[in-house]
Formats: sequence, structure tokens, C-alpha cells
Amino acid sequence: MKGKVIKSTGSWYSVLGDDGNSYECRIKGKFRIKGLKTTNPIAVGDMVDFEMEPGEETAIINHLHERHNYIIRKSVNLSKQTQIIAANMDQAILVVTLALPRTSLGFIDRFLLTAEAYHIPAILLFNKYDLYEEADKEYLKAVQEIYESIGYPCYEISALTGFGIDKVKALIKDKTTLFSGHSGVGKSSLINAIVPENQLKTAEISRAHQKGMHTTTFAEMFTLPDGGFVIDTPGIRELGVVDIDKYELSGYFPEMKEMVNQCRFNNCTHTQEPGCAVIKAVEEGRIAVSRYESYFSVFHNVDTRV
Ligand code: GDP
Ligand code: ZN
Repeated sequence: MKGKVIKSTGSWYSVLGDDGNSYECRIKGKFRIKGLKTTNPIAVGDMVDFEMEPGEETAIINHLHERHNYIIRKSVNLSKQTQIIAANMDQAILVVTLALPRTSLGFIDRFLLTAEAYHIPAILLFNKYDLYEEADKEYLKAVQEIYESIGYPCYEISALTGFGIDKVKALIKDKTTLFSGHSGVGKSSLINAIVPENQLKTAEISRAHQKGMHTTTFAEMFTLPDGGFVIDTPGIRELGVVDIDKYELSGYFPEMKEMVNQCRFNNCTHTQEPGCAVIKAVEEGRIAVSRYESYFSVFHNVDTRV
């Protein structure tokens, strides 16, 4: 049978089978993906084939389907160990806010560029709208215009009052959606508002149960009553790390990608060169200054890892 991994505890995996039932599975054999060495073979979101163990209620995963995307985390203490956090996401939602703690545009841009590198379409939700003053609303308009014009949908919501929550529910229906956001923006409140309560309780219990064990849950997946899945990554603020060649950085800024072949030099870094089409576009207001600043800062401050 085919199914989707909805929970991973290290040695056991809960798989939602095509028949709608959930199966506790172990894995047998190796699940190596070419060119990727990971500490965990399978993550939430993975599509697998499995078969029941004879005479048991448990099953064995015997095949991993190819992932159309995945996010990873590299541990800093262990040398270059890579964990797969989640796989096969249809979209990533970044919860941000212009109230406190205000999300910086630099943070948003780093998230978006990582999402581009991971091939995950991204959406921005501006939470705590109930707290926005007139000036915040004006600023929001300008910010939304920047992101919508380059292809990132934006919505204003309030997890507290419920404003805009129906729109969020419609966005995530029948999709697998990763939720991210820095601490304090209201990501948990939002997830609480869209995921049935009994599932959240289960997640609490399983997290408590795993304390002190060697296994770690990298991500939690919730099934939505109207169809679809929500992935939360408690404790992970950014979208993981990605190896980016800084000379290819402009490829992850959709509005720059289109114009880099008009630069005078074909190895233009778009930071100082004469005849740079990107710099010209910034000067002419076709690329937002804040977006260019993010590009510039990532280019200079990070070697090749974002
Ligand atoms: P997280 O760290 O992103 O998971 O944030 P929480 O969901 O824990 O929310 C942080 C704080 O912001 C809490 O005190 C929430 O009650 C509050 N909060 C969350 N969403 C909203 C909102 O839409 N409006 C207002 N006014 N407060 C909110
Ligand atoms: Zn250039």
C-alpha cells in the first residue's frame, strides 16, 4: 500500500495509507537518496510503500518515493550531519507581523530566498492586524506591493480575532503547507485556530513523551478536517539552511533573475559593476531598495550558506 508519513519518532513512523487508515511502520533496508547523506532516512511528508508484517498490526516501509522537495537542517556541533525536516510541501507560509515583535524585511527576504532554493512556493501572512495603527497599515500597503509584484501572495490576518482565518483555511485546503515564523509573531495561535483541538493535544503528549529520549521530532504534521496537511517545525525559526553559490544568488530573487542577462558583464555580481541592469533597475524604482539591500547583505555577509 502507498501512504504519506505523518509522524516520525526516529524508529517508528505513522503512515496515513491510501485507504484513510493510519499505520505504525518501521523501516527495513536502506533509504539513501543519491548525493544526500542524512541522519534520518525518512521524514514527515514522505510518500512511501509499505506492507503489513505477517500476524502483526504493524507494517514495514519498503519503498520511498522520490521527493519533489524537502527541507534540511545541518547540525552545527556534529560535523556536517544533515537532517531531513520535512518533504513534499506544496507551499510554505511565513507568519510575520508589523506589530511587535516586528518582522524585518531582511528576515522575510532570507526566508523567501531559501524557499526559492528549496522550490517551495511561499506566502506571507501579516498577523496581529488588529494591532496595526494607521501608519502600520500604510506601511503594510507598501510592503505588500513589493512582495505581490514579485509573485508572493500576501494576506493580513489576526489569529486573535479570527480576521482573515477563513482565507487561510481556503489557502491550505487539500495542500501540504509548512508554517514558519520567528518567535512571538503568533504562529502557534494561528495553528491553534486552524487545526482541530484533539490533534494539538496529541502533539503535546507525544512531545512530552519524547523528552529525554534520543529521538527528536523534527516536524509535526496535522491533518485538516476539510483536507490537507499542516507542518509545524517547533523550535526551527528559519527554513533550514541551504547551500547557495553566492554568484547564483540573484537567481533566487525572482525580480532580478529576469534582468541579469542584460548586465554588461556576464559574471556581474550586481554589487558595483558598471552597466549592471540590476543596479539600474533599483535606481529606476523597478526593484525595491529593501530587496536589493537584502541581496547585498546576503552576498557580502554569508560565505555560501544562508
Ligand atoms: P509564536 O511564538 O509565533 O508561536 O506566537 P504565539 O502564538 O505564542 O503568540 C505570541 C503572542 O502574540 C501571544 O501573547 C498571543 O496571544 C499574541 N498574538 C498572536 N496572534 C495575535 C493577533 O493576531 N493579535 C494580537 N493582538 N495578539 C496576537
Ligand atoms: Zn549586474
